[in-house]
Order: sequence, then C-alpha cells, then structure tokens
Amino acid sequence: MRSHSVALLPGDGVGPEVVAEAVKVLRAAARLDGGFELAMEEISIGAGEYLRSGEAMSEQAFQRIRAKDAVLLGAMGLPSVRLPSGVEIAPQLDLRERLDLYAGLRPIRLYHPRFSPLASKRAGSIDLLLVRENTEGMFWSRKGSLVANDDERIDGLRISRAGSERLFRAAFEQARARRGKVTLVDKANVLPSLAFFRGIFDEVAAEFPDIETERIYVDAAALYLVRRPESFDVMVTENMFGDILSDLAAGLIGGMGMAPSGDIGDRHAVFQPSHGSAPDIAGQGVANPTATILSAALLLDWLGEKEAAGAVSRAVERALNDPAQWTRDLGGEQSCAGLGDAVVAQLG
Ligand code: ATP
Repeated sequence: MRSHSVALLPGDGVGPEVVAEAVKVLRAAARLDGGFELAMEEISIGAGEYLRSGEAMSEQAFQRIRAKDAVLLGAMGLPSVRLPSGVEIAPQLDLRERLDLYAGLRPIRLYHPRFSPLASKRAGSIDLLLVRENTEGMFWSRKGSLVANDDERIDGLRISRAGSERLFRAAFEQARARRGKVTLVDKANVLPSLAFFRGIFDEVAAEFPDIETERIYVDAAALYLVRRPESFDVMVTENMFGDILSDLAAGLIGGMGMAPSGDIGDRHAVFQPSHGSAPDIAGQGVANPTATILSAALLLDWLGEKEAAGAVSRAVERALNDPAQWTRDLGGEQSCAGLGDAVVAQLG
C-alpha cells in the first residue's frame, strides 16, 4: 500500500482547532477506494512552544519536519509573544526560507454566491491561482535594512534571475494544468527591479508558447480583481504584492477562512490556511476550517494522491452548499468541528 509521512504543526491560536478538522478529513480520504497510508506526526513549534521551551522551532524539530514527505501547518504566532527584538514569532517564514519553498500557491475559488461581496457571481465563476514568490522580493529585507541609522531606513527589493525563472516556470506549469493563461503582476513602469522581473517573465514565456500571457501593474491588478476576477487563471507576482493581493482575493470568496495555500519547493512543501492565528476567535470553536481542509487537499495532490485530493475538494463544495454548515464568518452558526464532520460525511 502507498504510504506517505506528514508532519502536523498545529501551532497557535485557531491552528490546533482547524488542523484537527483537516486531520479527520485526511484520515477519511486515505480510506477511500484502494486507500493509502498517512503516517502523521504532530510536532510543536510556534509561540506556545517558545513560551514553553524558549525556542519557537528547535533544530531537532526542524530536522524531524524536514524528513517528512509533506507538512500541514495551522497558524503561528500570537500578538502577545514577541522576540526580544520586538517582532512576532514566525517559524513558518523560517520554514519557507530554510526549505527553499519558493512558490506560494494560493488558489481562490468561490464555493457559494453568498460568500462573495460581489453581486451576481456564480459558484466557480471566481477560480484563480495566485503564485506568490516566497523567498526574496520586498520581504528580502525582513532580516535587516540596507540602511538603518537614526535618521532613516532603506529596505531593499531583491529580484534574482534564478529566483524568477523557477517561479515563472512553476506558474506556467500550473497554467498547463488549469485554463492555460498566466498574468504577470508587477510595477515595471516604476521600479527597475520589476522591469528586470518582467524581462525574465518574457524569456520564460517563450518556453511555453501554448500558454496565453498578460502583463499588468499591481494597482490595476487590485482594480481588476474586483471588476473582472473571472478573467484570471494564474497570476504570478513578487512576495509583498502576493501577500497583499492574496488577502484581497480571499475577500472575494468569503474571507481568510476560505483561502488555502501551499508553499512549494523542489523537494519540500508546506500547506497551510492563508490566515493567521486569529486570537480574537481562538478557543471558541467557531473558526472556519475550510482553508485548512482545502490546504490538506493540496497536500494530497502534491503527494500524488490526485483522486483523494479531488474528492476532498468536491466534498467541501457539497458541504458548503448547505447553509446549515456555514460557520460564523460565512453568516451561519455551524461550529468548526461541525463543518469538519459535514465534509467527512460528504466524502462518503
Ligand atoms: P497574520 O498576521 O498572522 O497573518 P492577521 O493579523 O492578518 O494574522 P488573522 O489571524 O488571519 O490576522 O485574522 C484576520 C481576521 O480574520 C480576524 O478577524 C480573524 O478572526 C479572521 N479569521 C482568520 N482566520 C479565520 C478562520 N479560520 N475562520 C474565521 N475567521 C477567521
């Protein structure tokens, strides 16, 4: 029987609640048809772990995570728990960098017309994939500014040829498996680094003559996401633009509780909801587990369990067809665990 190892990193805030529901769904999906084995091991990292042991992610924990076939993460960090430098604990960002997870895949799909603030959008009419560069771009200055003195700070935006080529190839490959269109989002009219980014995009595009391309500036992307979201298939962009546009895109389909993600490298991958630890609702049992369950579906797809991945997505769609299963953020009263159970029931 096929077997895969998965690290579970529930983390902080709503992380443990939503991961518990995704685990129920993964176990049920593994039993479908011929079935496969999932050896899941829970590993503690995050703000809670920092409070317990003084280390948000120990070297030993990192090595255990790295040895797994894939990783499912809940949410990390709490506003009240800070490093001595004043920044929040974010081992999920360290994982992205240390495992070289350069492509952040963020699928955005509307599951029910009532979840969108936009009028008259059918289920499935918004269906796009945002590919966010994860290892450089404007986040490159995370570890330190180019200039930092008493009078000013200058942060840098790093674009490398190698980093951009691998990102664009990943985006074009994704488009081949979808509707065959890639939109580059940049600010090439203002920033030289992003003009360079666009030049590399054009070179990689020539390797994929079967894929339609479009190039737009980030300000226009914000407008078009609201005005004509159905025109997008794959959108690819640098780190900070991707960070911002993915929250805007999540807003079009019901909010952060609906937005899954996969951070993918050549050898490793970490799957997690796009939202944070949501301390305002943690522990109340009202978090929406959909983003985490859909992240688990992306994990199954990445492991090569395509049928199980498709079955989970369809089960989510069927469960959310019933307003009785909607959590508070979707305008309903269902609990986090109730929605998880409803998805399992739909898996049959
Ligand atoms: P981070 O900086 O860690 O990404 P954040 O400060 O942007 O986090 P989130 O933790 O993502 O914020 O929460 C933003 C808002 O979305 C909060 O009001 C939170 O309650 C809500 N939210 C986040 N996740 C969920 C969820 N799974 N279900 C329902 N509401 C959620």
